Amino acid sequence: MGDGESDKGLLSGLESSGSSRRDFLKIITIAAASVGLPVSAAGKMAEAASKKGKPSVIWLHFQECTGCTESLLRTSHPALSSLILDLVSLDYHETLFAAAGYQAEDALKAAIKANEGKFVLVVEGAIPVKDNGIYCKVGGKTALQILNEVAPKAGAIVAIGSCASFGGIPAAEPNPTGATGVPQVLKGKTVVTLPGCPANPYNLLGTVLQFATYGTLPALDEHGRPKFAYARVIHEDCPRRPHFDAGRFASQFGDASHRDGHCLYKLGCKGPVTHANCSLLPFVEMPGAWPIGIGHPCVGCTEQQVAFRTPMFEVVPIHNATPPSTYAPVAESGGLLSIPAALGAGAVLGALAGAGLVASRKFSDHDGDQSIPGERRRASGKEGTPADPGEKK
Ligand code: SF4
Repeated sequence: MGDGESDKGLLSGLESSGSSRRDFLKIITIAAASVGLPVSAAGKMAEAASKKGKPSVIWLHFQECTGCTESLLRTSHPALSSLILDLVSLDYHETLFAAAGYQAEDALKAAIKANEGKFVLVVEGAIPVKDNGIYCKVGGKTALQILNEVAPKAGAIVAIGSCASFGGIPAAEPNPTGATGVPQVLKGKTVVTLPGCPANPYNLLGTVLQFATYGTLPALDEHGRPKFAYARVIHEDCPRRPHFDAGRFASQFGDASHRDGHCLYKLGCKGPVTHANCSLLPFVEMPGAWPIGIGHPCVGCTEQQVAFRTPMFEVVPIHNATPPSTYAPVAESGGLLSIPAALGAGAVLGALAGAGLVASRKFSDHDGDQSIPGERRRASGKEGTPADPGEKK
């Protein structure tokens, strides 16, 4: 972080709002890390926020519950939301504006004019397109009109939350308003989507600061989601994963396994098919403050084909299984392989196909079988072996 006058100005502003330089650096380092940049990038981002001027953000609200804005603001440590708002220049945001009516509309025009081609347009909420979009109007204009007017003047466009990313809850069947996401309206334009219900504020902050600092956007997947946040499924990094591998599952809310923090797969957890970094990047500064962390199955809110379409308690198929963290025992009794035989078999199999193939067969042998490891072991008569305790006794 630089030591220039503007830098001091930003810091003194933070200090007067009760935040320290240390708080500031912590937040910006997390933001840099969240977009996959090295720690050194945090210094550049801080310097850009101090010297180049804070990135201008224009935030539009359409069909939504304002949950994404709430997740940004409702932190248990008030300094965090202040810090985030100190790092970006939120030039237009209907929920936070004191202005109303014509004054607010003028503010939007002024913010666009002052930062044309440079501002980051953040859209929260779906856009209804049925009947020319009459189901969502702000200041006499439809959401469709407003988006089509503002988007071409933006430097970057971010759809925050599942509603803006692909329609979310407003687009759930029967979708009477023809709600859809920003990328579906702005066909051909690059739209960074940050699905989530709500989206993690750090993913937004990291994206905006990268754009402001380097003039680039993060690498995106085929749905416009930044790979830094959506490349892996939740199941890969879930803190309950050891229980999944060991066959320990909650079967009902409140049963002994549920109270002991076991895997929620049988309760309909969508973590195995849901790409997001919820388990790696806690929402705001509260470790454990996410559905699986508080004992509710993941609902798959970042996946268009899952969220608000697949029944909440329906189990999902397991694809691309990764090797378990616990393995079946090697013992001479009970018909299992002897240690030398197991070693020999392992060597041959390893030479033939590699350990990854062996692990994947665990599931591919059961194509279409959505049962889970512990269940299959019980079905095969091997229930209760030392390394396979099955469900909690
Ligand atoms: Fe975690 Fe859900 Fe996977 Fe179980 S099924 S390990 S709760 S993501």
